[in-house]
Amino acid sequence: MTAAILDGKKLAETVREEVRGGVATFTKKYGRAPGLEVILVGEDPASQIYTRNKEKAAKDVGIRGKLHVLPTGTSESTLLAELYRLNADDAVDGILVQLPLPSQIRQSRVLDAIRPDKDVDGFHPTNAGLLTSGRPSLVPCTPRGAMKLLNLAIATLAHTTLEGAHAVVVGRSNIVGKPMAQLLLAANATVTLAHSRTKDLAGTCRQADVLVAAVGKAELVRGNWVKPGAIVIDVGMNRIHVAAASPGETSKTKLVGDVAFDEAKEHAAAITPVPGGVGPMTIACLLENTLIAAQARLAARG
Ligand code: NDP
Repeated sequence: MTAAILDGKKLAETVREEVRGGVATFTKKYGRAPGLEVILVGEDPASQIYTRNKEKAAKDVGIRGKLHVLPTGTSESTLLAELYRLNADDAVDGILVQLPLPSQIRQSRVLDAIRPDKDVDGFHPTNAGLLTSGRPSLVPCTPRGAMKLLNLAIATLAHTTLEGAHAVVVGRSNIVGKPMAQLLLAANATVTLAHSRTKDLAGTCRQADVLVAAVGKAELVRGNWVKPGAIVIDVGMNRIHVAAASPGETSKTKLVGDVAFDEAKEHAAAITPVPGGVGPMTIACLLENTLIAAQARLAARG
């Protein structure tokens, strides 16, 4: 069996198009575009790229995206003061603080300080609690995107449903694994949440009709861990070194997932690639969350 490849780039483009349309309607109705403020503290090169990409992606769909860069030595109280200012600014619909933060700033204090109705990353405990309670909330972008890819797989494969399916999520972070498990539960899957202390991880994965890997360990999930016909969603993004092909050549790096793709695609019915799977969906879902937050806040006023 060779799996159908779930094209996250293409699906992300469809989501962005939908958001672009929604933003145009919002802007016409309320006389201003939705506003997204992205805060970066420090000079981490990867975070600089991610935040610039978020600002650019927002502008591309008509959202008023703004990136604030604060120095590495910024105190927790300065960052909190900036968040309180944005919380109170009526033209700001979405606030995102790029993680990780420098060590002098407590992540929990910062995430807790963002107004839940502007929390477009969906990391505030109020949004996490609402999701767990099966109530409407701002859902973290990566699991939201992963669910859209899963629904694409269900639509592509005949006779497949999430209802009653056994879904195994490997990884229990607040950002990916736990919200992913909640979304699968809400879709009536039977969910197993596996982690670093799980006994017989390979055997647990082999029971999965839907296998979601969110671990951060390059190619941990091998092909023979995948049940024949399963849907595999690989959230992992790991940069590994590739040895130089010849003595004169410098070594290179490449991006791989948490799943050994070439092996797993021989067992799965559908699988996401890395890159080009879940990754592109995350920013698309951030744009969608910003539009949802803007619509909900303004609609609540009647
Ligand atoms: P975390 O490090 O926060 O969590 C990793 C989870 O994996 C933990 O629950 C940990 O278990 C579990 N784990 C670690 N090692 C093993 C193992 N050997 N066997 C079983 N479980 C294990 O990572 P994140 O959730 O933030 O990210 C996971 C992956 O997803 C990373 O590769 C990250 O880069 C990627 N990612 C991709 C995004 C995208 O846009 N595509 C966005 C966010 C993340 P325990 O709790 O017991 O320690």
